[in-house]
Amino acid sequence: MTDTDPHTQARDLLTSLGTTVASEWSAPGRVNLIGEHTDYNDGFVFPFATPHRTHVALAPRADGRLRVISTFDTVPVEVAIADLDAIFPTVDGEHAVPEWSAYPLGVAWALIQAAGADPTTLTGADLAFASNVPVGAGLSSSAAIEGATASALNELWSLGLDRVALAQVGRRAENEAVGAPTGIMDQMASMLGEPDAATFLDCRSLETDEVELGFAAAGLSLLVMDTNVKHAHSTGGYGERRASCEKGARVMGVPMLRDLSVADLDRAAELLDDVTFRRVRHIVTENQRVLDTVRTLREQGPRAIGSLLDASHASMRDDFEISVPELDLAADTAVAAGAIGARMTGGGFGGAAIALVETDAVDTVTRAVEQAFADAGFTAPTIFPVTPSAGARRDG
Ligand code: ADP
Ligand code: MG
Repeated sequence: MTDTDPHTQARDLLTSLGTTVASEWSAPGRVNLIGEHTDYNDGFVFPFATPHRTHVALAPRADGRLRVISTFDTVPVEVAIADLDAIFPTVDGEHAVPEWSAYPLGVAWALIQAAGADPTTLTGADLAFASNVPVGAGLSSSAAIEGATASALNELWSLGLDRVALAQVGRRAENEAVGAPTGIMDQMASMLGEPDAATFLDCRSLETDEVELGFAAAGLSLLVMDTNVKHAHSTGGYGERRASCEKGARVMGVPMLRDLSVADLDRAAELLDDVTFRRVRHIVTENQRVLDTVRTLREQGPRAIGSLLDASHASMRDDFEISVPELDLAADTAVAAGAIGARMTGGGFGGAAIALVETDAVDTVTRAVEQAFADAGFTAPTIFPVTPSAGARRDG
């Protein structure tokens, strides 16, 4: 291992506080293969865990306090466990602690709530974070830091929560401590991921199925094309899309858009205004595309899912309107250069697109996208392959 790998960085950062590492944990980011904005509509998603991970090194403390530090901001943030209740939930987006620290400290708070633990009995800890998950790129560095923290504190405090419960803790921290109204997909993928598989998740029941992807065996690679256009989900369009979905469900008389199928879209067109209808159509057709992707993978293998990826991108671009010109250019250029399929991934308004490509076409597709960005005068994209990897775990 080199000095720059995040595992070593987390250890070194903790040691720099004058403490001794007692345990080490990591959790991955995720790439969503298909199923975008369906999670908070109780629908289906199909993400996998990235080889990129956020690492945390932990040392217990005797004084009932939590101190967190990250390579992002080397000023540590320290609070008493007994005071977490006074800090969270965050009200009106005003953070009582630096925003990044609301992720790990919010996880501590949500864990205590979920387990019904008495904060005054819990061991304190120093937690040092380092990561190679790109931030704001649609790879969910937020779920990675949440999953690493939840796994570490669950064991330190002997809470015995299972992986699904830890995913729910991460989501609650992100929603209520950070104030970002995201769904459960990212945390589930980060907690449950398995090598060479994606997690088919029913966001209503939280039932999951690990589905083999077989990309490598088929001679395929999955490229992430990070546009380097940054987004922030705690503000702006993400919340507006959620509101449109809630409105659509209300007018259609169903609890959630999950409860509509493609056959309901004619009626939706009559009842809804144009914008709300298109938002609803994206969610309804996207849910169907997730089901179709899982079935197609099982019946025909990964080469057959390309048109579903392309259709998903078009739906996000035209109906849900969460794409940006950089994402469209990346997806369109990749397909024109020979990719089997491509789509933007993640919440949108920036971040990354993915392309499924023949492994021996990786260089051709990469160069074509880089050239198209240069020609358009866009900031250069960062393009790299990802292999579906393992979920949160203890590393030492
Ligand atoms: P993403 O798509 O990467 O999840 P988000 O906006 O949801 O983007 O989350 C990114 C935020 O998560 C960062 O701005 C930071 O506050 C926090 N974060 C993620 N990873 C780390 C880390 N290793 N150290 C500190 N903060 C982190
Ligand atoms: Mg995130």
